[in-house]
Amino acid sequence: MTRIDLHAHSTVSDGTCTPSEVIGEAVRANLDVVALTDHDGVGGWAEAAAAAGAAGIGFVPGVELSCRWYGVEPAIPLHLLAYYVDPNDEALSTEMARVREGRLTRGEQIVALMRQDGLDVTWDEVQGYATGATVGRPHFAQALIKRGLVSTVSEAFAPEMLGQRWRAPKPDTDVFLALRLVLGAGGVPVFAHPKATKRGTIVPDELIVELAGAGLVGLEADHEDHSAEQRAEVRALAERLGLLVTGSSDFHGTNKPVRLGANLTPPEVLDQIRAAARSRAH
Ligand code: AMP
Ligand code: FE
Ligand code: FE
Ligand code: ZN
Repeated sequence: MTRIDLHAHSTVSDGTCTPSEVIGEAVRANLDVVALTDHDGVGGWAEAAAAAGAAGIGFVPGVELSCRWYGVEPAIPLHLLAYYVDPNDEALSTEMARVREGRLTRGEQIVALMRQDGLDVTWDEVQGYATGATVGRPHFAQALIKRGLVSTVSEAFAPEMLGQRWRAPKPDTDVFLALRLVLGAGGVPVFAHPKATKRGTIVPDELIVELAGAGLVGLEADHEDHSAEQRAEVRALAERLGLLVTGSSDFHGTNKPVRLGANLTPPEVLDQIRAAARSRAH
């Protein structure tokens, strides 16, 4: 059986394994193919591709874009995975850089909220945990773990902490713009965990219908944040709209309990993703 996992994070965003270590973990998890999909950046691709080549496993270059749908008030955040985008595409790179930089202002705001609650955390300390990568809330969780306030990153997402209380707006991209940028960069867009109500408000199916009309290629169904019912809903919707269905772990190293390879994508789906990417390459 070909084992393919199309969603994993490294230290380039909020995972705890370097890109090479993600490949090492993929080998240990008996994967044949793994994608690196860091948040809002492609800085891990070169290292991961080299490591995958050396290890003799397949590598799919990807990215997970922080997006928002402005069709309702308040607008709903969502994640768009994109495979095989041209890393040198200027419009997409510029937008990703804008989002990454916006996370810095947001990070300082989160630190200010934490300090108002009496924590002695500093922005320098949090940036230290991010080691120069895309700063995300799991890096703030590290500060809480260090102080013994929580023992896992997940616990730090409780509503009285990072989940609700210490929240500041995250920069992101209008999902329709993101879709245009991904398609313009020759990439293949897949909506990440679209029915994950445990992450917050989800978008209505009508939006997914619109996204499909605008070039969305697939939906991620098998994901740990989806219940069996939610996976079935995603599958039914994908079938209705002629979209591909993927499955993946959303591995974050020790920042999340999920293991690489916990959910998989069938080889014929990856073939179709690759074919879509080839048909777009210019
Ligand atoms: P941010 O992009 O900075 O808002 O942080 C969101 C990231 O935090 C997600 O991509 C996950 O990696 C992580 N995350 C969100 N919710 C949880 C949770 N309940 N437990 C652990 N990690 C989480
Ligand atoms: Fe993450
Ligand atoms: Fe995500
Ligand atoms: Zn992810």
